[in-house]
Order: sequence, then C-alpha cells, then structure tokens
Amino acid sequence: MNDFDVVILGGGSGGYACALRSAQLGLSVVLIEKDKLGGTCLHRGCIPTKALLHAGEIAENTKHAAEFGVNAQFLSMDMLAVNAYKDGVIAKLYKGLQGLVKSRNITYVEGHGKLVAKNQVEVNGTIYTGKNVVLATGSFPRTLPGLEIDGKQIVTSEEAMSFDFVPKSAIVLGGGVIGCEFASVWSSFGADVTIIEGLPRLVALEDESSSKQLERAFRKRGIKFETGIKFQSASKGPNGVTVTLENGATHTAEVLLVAVGRGPVTSNIGYEEQGIAMERGYITVDNKCRTSVPGVWAVGDIIPTLQLAHVGFAEGILVAEEISGLNPRPINYDGVPRVTYSEPEVASVGLTTATAKERGYDVVETTYDLAGNGKAHILKTSGSIKLVAAKNGPVLGIHMVGARVGELLAEAQLIYNWEAEASDVAPLIHAHPTLSEAMGEAHMALAGKPLHAHG
Ligand SMILES: Cc1cc2nc3c(=O)[nH]c(=O)nc-3n(C[C@H](O)[C@H](O)[C@H](O)COP(=O)(O)OP(=O)(O)OC[C@H]3O[C@@H](n4cnc5c(N)ncnc54)[C@H](O)[C@@H]3O)c2cc1C
Repeated sequence: MNDFDVVILGGGSGGYACALRSAQLGLSVVLIEKDKLGGTCLHRGCIPTKALLHAGEIAENTKHAAEFGVNAQFLSMDMLAVNAYKDGVIAKLYKGLQGLVKSRNITYVEGHGKLVAKNQVEVNGTIYTGKNVVLATGSFPRTLPGLEIDGKQIVTSEEAMSFDFVPKSAIVLGGGVIGCEFASVWSSFGADVTIIEGLPRLVALEDESSSKQLERAFRKRGIKFETGIKFQSASKGPNGVTVTLENGATHTAEVLLVAVGRGPVTSNIGYEEQGIAMERGYITVDNKCRTSVPGVWAVGDIIPTLQLAHVGFAEGILVAEEISGLNPRPINYDGVPRVTYSEPEVASVGLTTATAKERGYDVVETTYDLAGNGKAHILKTSGSIKLVAAKNGPVLGIHMVGARVGELLAEAQLIYNWEAEASDVAPLIHAHPTLSEAMGEAHMALAGKPLHAHG
C-alpha cells in the first residue's frame, strides 16, 4: 500500500516540480515534506524577497515622485502592512500550490523523512517504498566560524524577511545575490546600509561590467560597500553589532545580516548511511541527476548546480521524464537565466567575457547603453545590455543592468539557447517604446548596423 513509483523527500521547488510532472506522466507519487509545501522559494526566499523589493520600489517611486510631477511625500514604512502584503502573496500562492498537488493525485505526507534503505523513506514510523527515490531536501543559510546567529541583531535572510521594523543601519555580510537584494530593500526603506564582500566585487559571479555598473548605482543610492576584504569578527554592544575586518577596520550597525551563501541539507537523514556519494556536503550526480546509488536521484539546492528555484523545477522535471523513459536532454546550466532583483536589476544568461575567453572563443562584444532607449528615459533608469559573441558565430552571453531588465531575459535566453547570431536577431522588430528595443539595438550594433547608437 505504501509502494510508489516515486518517493520524493522534500516539497520545495525541486521536489514538488518532480511530483507534479511524475504524476502527469502517470506515475504513482508520494511527496514528503516536514514543513510547508513550496519550501524555501515560496516561504523564505524568492517570493517574500521580491514582495519586499516591490514595496521598496514603491517607496523609491514615492521619494522621487516630484521628478514625475506627482505630489507625494514619503513618510515612513509601515512594516506590519508590508509584511501583511508579503504574507498575503505567499498565502495565495501556497493555497494554489496545495490545490494543484491535491488535484494531481499525489499522496502528500507531512513529517520528517529519513532515508532508511536505498528505496525506502521512513516518516513517523511509516515506511514508504519507491521504485525510485528523489532527494530534494534543499538548503539552509550558512554562517561563518565564530559568528553566531541570534535571530535579532545578527540574522540571516530567514529572520530579516519578517522584520517588523526598519533598521536604522545594517551591515550586510556578503555581496552576492541575497546580500545585494537585502541591501537594496533596506536602503529603499530608509536604512543606512554597508555591504562587506570578501571577493573583489559585488555579484562576483556576474560579468565584471555588470558588477561595476551595480556598484556605481549603489554608490549613487548611498549604499556603501567594501570589497576584497575579509570579515574577522563581530561583537554585540549597546550601539549594535560591530564588525571587525581583517585589515582592522570596524563598522557598527543596528543589525548584521549574514548572507554568505547556503549549504545543502544532507546530513543526519540517512544519505551517508545509504552510501550516497557527496562532495563538501553536496550530493554528486550525473547529467540526469542520478546519484551514485541506482534508483536514487537528487535535485535542487542539494546538488552542486546553481541554487535557483527554476533550476530546481527543471531538475525535478528532468528526473520525472527520465524515470518515465522520455530520455530528456540534460540541462545546459550556462543557459539558465539569472537575476539579482536589486534596484537596478542585474540579469544575465550564457557566458561572461572572461569565461568565453577561458573556453577558447575568439570573443567579440558590444555594449548598448540604455541612454539610447526611450523607455529607459521614461523610467529614469540607466544601465546597459552587453553582448558577448563568438567572432562570426553565435551570441555566447547577454548581460544586463537597469530597472526591470530581468523581464528581458525571456528573449535573451531564447537567443542564447537557440544559438542565434546577431544577424538573426537584428531584423526582429521590437515594440516601441519598450526596454526590449535595447535588445534589438544591441544585436543591430553587433551585426554592424547600429540605429540609435552613438560612436
Ligand atoms: C532569500 C532568498 C531569496 C531567493 N530568491 C530567489 C529568486 O529570486 N529566484 C530564484 O530562482 N531562487 C531564489 N532563491 C533560491 C531558491 O529559493 C532555491 O534555489 C530553491 O528554493 C531550492 O529548491 P529546493 O527544492 O532544492 O529546496 P527547498 O526549497 O529548500 O525545499 C526543500 C524542502 O525539503 C524539506 N525537507 C528538508 N529535509 C526534510 C526531511 N528530512 N523530511 C521532510 N522534508 C524535508 C524542507 O522543509 C523544504 O521545504 C532564493 C533563496 C533565498 C534564501
């Protein structure tokens, strides 16, 4: 009775996507979740942070309303109302997702699961046996040695996203995606923000040009940052948290957000005991998400691929289709769209200039400045679209900075993933006036026929 085609441990992006697709393909599925269906993305990640960022955008628009001829005054943030709005968004999506899982005839089990055999998961004394077991237990926020999270003054994104106050000042440890998004939100809400990043630049996984533009925009917004310097220690005192850096410099603020990355949830749940191969805590898999143990698969943040919800979805779907014998194409991780939803946004797909060169391409590139785009002027945003391409070959990477550029990834990822050349894209007509015209203009420039471009 408790025998299934697929037993899935973890109901986040990776796990539930695998459950939905497996059920769609006619497989019997049990989905085991100890907390809330939807996981990090819905309850503690993508959705709540983007709601906060949207509230931040409205705050910024209000502060700058006079520039658009609108009489309005920014007074303060009402964090109870912000949280009510954010939680309302989550609640609606949560309800929808619960309904979806129910409607697909998926057996949903609430409780803490443990892998007790290669094909069995135990939950509260009940054993669920699967022809296939899919591990999707996600990730947790990491901290640094000696840096204890107290949940009040020293926090991770988990506590920070439910603050019922705006900190007067904040230190953000880590200038990656999560760190930059919180820095952006808190600055919009009125906090004095300083980012500390050990690597030489903010959003260091992005193309260097994108980091430079984000840093310039943050400087303009009054968001301070120190890069290329390592954290040494933190101490709590009457004035807040004081962070000491390796060069002896100190910074003090009301709160310290630790945003130094996320680690995989893979210990004490039977994975080691069943002989599942791991590296630095991440489960190692082949290009179809098979672990070292036949019949056991792993998806999402527990495998060493990009920790993004849409990557988890794609991996979950891939596994369901592979199990069903559809022989899906492995995921090309270079073709995954990436966004940092700060103000301005940073968005990219494909290779950076540095990676393209490392891989031996003869690289050509062009940068289209949003100063040439009508909609960018209407929005009063600045930034650019940079194209990296192989000489006389396809577009290898698209790197964008500016308000709302994340939305342009829909086209950018088609260009990259279909291996389009600039001359394929240049004739496509883009609606005027939209930011997407900048995508067309960038390709026109690279194809040797720039229209609204100087120089
Ligand atoms: C602040 C923040 C912002 C983010 N913003 C974005 C964004 O804008 N876009 C984006 O694409 N990604 C974003 N992410 C990343 C995204 O949330 C994750 O990549 C995604 O949620 C990973 O999905 P997953 O299924 O691997 O893990 P999770 O979503 O973490 O799900 C794992 C689930 O497994 C459950 N579980 C764990 N152990 C057990 C057990 N033993 N028994 C039963 N259940 C168990 C957990 O309760 C959890 O629900 C963000 C993350 C954070 C933290």
